[in-house]
Amino acid sequence: MSIVGPETAAWFERAYASLVNGVSSGWRYWGRHDTLVIARGEGAHVYDSDGKRYIDYHCGFGPIILGHADPKVAAAVTEAVSTGTTYAFTQEREIVAAETFKKAVPWVEKLRFTNTGTEATMHAIRLARGFTGRDVVVKFEGTYHGAHDYVMYSTPGKPVESMGSAYGPIPLPMSSGMPNTIGTLILTLPFNDVAAVRSLFADHGRRIAALVVEPMLGNAMGIQPAPGFLAELRALCDAEGSVLVFDEVKTGFRIATGGAAEVYGVVPDLGTFAKAMGNGVPVAAIAGRGEILEGWAKGGIVQAGTYSGNSIAAAAATATIGELLTGAPMARIATAGTAIMEGTSKILAAQGVPHSVQGQPGMFGFFLGEGSVSDYRATDGHDADLYERLVMAMIERGVMPSPDALEPWFLCSAISDDDVATTLEVFEESLKVALA
Ligand code: PMP
Repeated sequence: MSIVGPETAAWFERAYASLVNGVSSGWRYWGRHDTLVIARGEGAHVYDSDGKRYIDYHCGFGPIILGHADPKVAAAVTEAVSTGTTYAFTQEREIVAAETFKKAVPWVEKLRFTNTGTEATMHAIRLARGFTGRDVVVKFEGTYHGAHDYVMYSTPGKPVESMGSAYGPIPLPMSSGMPNTIGTLILTLPFNDVAAVRSLFADHGRRIAALVVEPMLGNAMGIQPAPGFLAELRALCDAEGSVLVFDEVKTGFRIATGGAAEVYGVVPDLGTFAKAMGNGVPVAAIAGRGEILEGWAKGGIVQAGTYSGNSIAAAAATATIGELLTGAPMARIATAGTAIMEGTSKILAAQGVPHSVQGQPGMFGFFLGEGSVSDYRATDGHDADLYERLVMAMIERGVMPSPDALEPWFLCSAISDDDVATTLEVFEESLKVALA
């Protein structure tokens, strides 16, 4: 049975006639007759074109942290847009946004705004290369750092059996159109494998400009860093003079107001932020150690963007981060997220489904298989068919995470106790349907 109602289907036909596959970003396409069209969002809910309500655990792939159409963010953005947007000069709202950012992420000395996570990681990598005078970038299997050619290797969804051994991983390009020569500048590693990271640094240390890592795997089931793993990355980068970049596009302003450094106690050289910092309005940043970021001021390393720091983005960031700084949104997410992580785990256990639920209350994932997962390679043991049947049954019943278990569940602080209770009821019923 399709999840798509008649009005939604009619809108999607219109979408299909003008937009390629009816979408503006490839991963939104679920098939010609199975892709939803969303008419509006409010709080923890979205409504499709038939008016059907869903408790939303996509949260836009992560940005929605306070809830859809949050009144404070909406008011700030409305005011900003009505007084001018882009000037080719620094503007007051941008300065306030930068100050607010630094309050929330206290290890950050300097930053610059961009518009998307892709832009942020692209600039962070160029900065690291310019700062170190080296070319090689190291990333982990199952991480995603944006849609530019420098990082689209061994991304989530690529086949584990083609990745080679942990000591000689094969970087797998994600797309046609990526020049082969760029693949010579990237080295990939399994996450949480300290021995493999040490061995790679022993062989290539002085060639490595940057080690880029999602501090927890926000694109692979919410896999957590093992105790000491991030500290080991810090130590190796220090020893070899490589720039440690935390890609906080998903973790930033989500797993804690201060992001991964607050949760895991390790401070990178640079952080890339986007998504939750604007509650759905496009805004991003490259932030971190002044000494490195000043590379843009000294000349010779270029960063640019017509819309970077525009008033709409800045207003959204100030309003969102300002709200997060009250502490209330994260407290709400901690309560609701913990209840869902624990409640779903109990339901799976009661039905005899081997599983683990890993992540943080604002962003967590499900592995349906024996044992636990500590890297992307281990996600191969996940029962993707069962999970998809479960989630499609949930979506039919108005609760909407992604049917791809690599993509975590995202919570916003607008979620109510009723939403949590409904989610657990629907989860239990849907699991029975999926197992039948
Ligand atoms: N880094 C991470 C960790 C991401 O999850 C994403 C997007 N999912 C990006 C970078 C790219 O961000 P954007 O889609 O805003 O370009």
